Amino acid sequence: MLAIQPTVLSAGVLDATVLLDCLPDVVLVLDEAGCLRYANAAAERQLGWTRAQWMGRSAFDLLHPDDFAVAVASMGTMQDKEYGTPVEVRVSDADGGWHLMEIVGANHHHRTEVGGLVLVVRDITQRRMWEIAGGDVARFQQVIQHSPSITMLLDADGIVTSVNGAFTRLLGFDPSVVIGESLSAFVATESMGLLVEVLGSMSRDHRNTSIELSMKRLDRDELRPIRFEFADLLSDPVVAGIVVSGYDVTELQRVRNDLEQMARHDALTGLANRSLMLSCLDTYLAIGRPVAVVFIDLDRFKPVNDLFGHEAGDELLAQVAARLAQAVRPGDVVARVGGDEFVVLAPGISGWTSATLLAERIESALSAQYELSVGPVKVGASAGVAISDSMSSVASLLADADVRMYEAKSERRGTTTRAAGEPRRNASERRQLADALAAGIGRGEVVAHLQPIIDLHSRKLVGVEALARWNHPDLGELAPASFLDLVEDAGLDMPFGAAVLESACRTLEILNVRGIQVPLAVNLSVGQLAHPSLCEQVVRTVTDHGLDMEQLIIEITERAMLTRHAAAGMSSPDETLQKLRAAGAALSLDDFGTGFSSLTHVRRFPLASLKIDQTFVAGMETCAEDRAVVEVVVGLARGLGLQVVAEGVETVKQWEMLRQVGCDHAQGYLMSRPLDADAAVSWITSYVAAV
Ligand code: C2E
Ligand code: MG
Ligand code: MG
Repeated sequence: MLAIQPTVLSAGVLDATVLLDCLPDVVLVLDEAGCLRYANAAAERQLGWTRAQWMGRSAFDLLHPDDFAVAVASMGTMQDKEYGTPVEVRVSDADGGWHLMEIVGANHHHRTEVGGLVLVVRDITQRRMWEIAGGDVARFQQVIQHSPSITMLLDADGIVTSVNGAFTRLLGFDPSVVIGESLSAFVATESMGLLVEVLGSMSRDHRNTSIELSMKRLDRDELRPIRFEFADLLSDPVVAGIVVSGYDVTELQRVRNDLEQMARHDALTGLANRSLMLSCLDTYLAIGRPVAVVFIDLDRFKPVNDLFGHEAGDELLAQVAARLAQAVRPGDVVARVGGDEFVVLAPGISGWTSATLLAERIESALSAQYELSVGPVKVGASAGVAISDSMSSVASLLADADVRMYEAKSERRGTTTRAAGEPRRNASERRQLADALAAGIGRGEVVAHLQPIIDLHSRKLVGVEALARWNHPDLGELAPASFLDLVEDAGLDMPFGAAVLESACRTLEILNVRGIQVPLAVNLSVGQLAHPSLCEQVVRTVTDHGLDMEQLIIEITERAMLTRHAAAGMSSPDETLQKLRAAGAALSLDDFGTGFSSLTHVRRFPLASLKIDQTFVAGMETCAEDRAVVEVVVGLARGLGLQVVAEGVETVKQWEMLRQVGCDHAQGYLMSRPLDADAAVSWITSYVAAV
């Protein structure tokens, strides 16, 4: 047992141990084995050890393991009786907390009254904190408190022990709620796993980590992305915790998204680019989701670019993109994959009917006139479709759609008919669509759009033609080309025709009330004409709306004229037409020149007019044969006392040529497109007032 001898002072006898206990610094004496033999009272004051706790224990038990090497080296250099250079080590207190201690020691082994290594140990934790804080701890705390970044201290279990104001500013939670709570309580479910993993790995290898966590916000449903840096300072006496700093990366994420958007989107139109489209298609195929691929190419883009310049071309492409985005369902992918080439991916479409209808809807959306800064322009679009099956690859689907698009383009040549390469709808698809049409007729989805017919010489309005439209609840507005075959196949001629006539008569009734009486041309199918009660039905509808049968023009195709014999229980179209004629309606032969028309047929019927098919009108400007056909038809009609209506008049030049050859009436986009009821009423009202 170490004995410390009393020292004699002049005034009397003073116990040296009493004197040592008065010192603010810890004084320790270690024996040769490094075990504690003596500690003064400061050891208990500063580190909380009682005599029973320190007596006989190895000094290394109380040292931080990382500081062993420093301690051993310094002990080896301790000179006899001389106090050498101080070293800094971490020493644990009775509660397991770490204190930063500055130690100087001297070797007094040879002195029997001491017999060991004397260490003077000073706690410099506060001093170091002071140094870090630049001499002003309160100010430093204020700076941290108002820092825009979150600063938090966690204990080894991830419990928040202190937090600055940024946490409240960014996430809304009050410090009183946060302190004492696990950090995980404020982390969104999707980030929880990551946090647990990071805390686990930190407690294993004490490595600093940086992660992005989705954080909850008080009173808001939205989450906020925060990037957190975790630094393990659990063994740092000054800090004694895991220091977490976090900053808001919402803006950073936005920039990141923008960059990604730029890399995967077309800058001009904002649509997906080829690479994004390819990776989406690849994903659909990989997860086995059925998908329809529509390849779209503009028909007359180059002339617009060449004639009006690239700015006009860009403007046009942007408008095309907007129409495409409108024409598809949310979730479909619309991409620009080349100068004037686009691809639509419609996941979930697995049938030809829906796919073909989508392609038709896209074509018709894109062929409407564009209003550019340089004036109005018209370009068509050709679309080809392919549908995925278990054998499909990205390349095969795109190639199929591309081929069908080219077939459509070469077949179309300015007309609105679909490509011959179009896949046939299968029986069950036809059935489904026919059911939808039957139900749609009942719900009022089938309506008439009206297109004005104008006198080429007086410019007066001489009639309107009713053109059927089906407002399909999912596919939007459909033109007759996409559903007329269904009407016929499903035997819906009568209800369909009745819906169109009813819709047109309602609009004409409104015009009648305004004092405007316009002849109404309606298209009748063979199925309608074969129905024994068609004439009665038409007369009833027309008169119910206060219109005259003399106002009605029945348009029939040459095919109707050729079907002369009645099936069992049916009438022959001839009979029905005679009855309609007798009731006051005029008859007009539609699409003249495209079918089997011969003079015999024309003479056999009590016709009032012929409609020259639009393909001849379209070719008039450039093709001498087409011009000749128009002249012959006009001459023929003259001779027979019939009026001639030219269809599909799109340009002023066509109008002029038709007028010169003596054609009577004209109908076409030049004057007006087919208009829905409201648009027709206002167009006609103002046209009649002006002309
Ligand atoms: P259609 O009777 O020959 O009607 C003229 C077609 O040409 C309409 O097509 C019209 O929108 C289109 N058109 C008009 N002006 C122009 C133009 O300037 N340029 C071009 N390229 N086209 C123009 P839509 O409405 O698609 O009708 C197509 C055909 O469907 C009609 O040809 C008609 O045969 C038939 N159809 C329309 N509605 C009915 C109906 O209610 N019943 C029956 N049975 N058939 C109908
Ligand atoms: Mg017609
Ligand atoms: Mg026609």
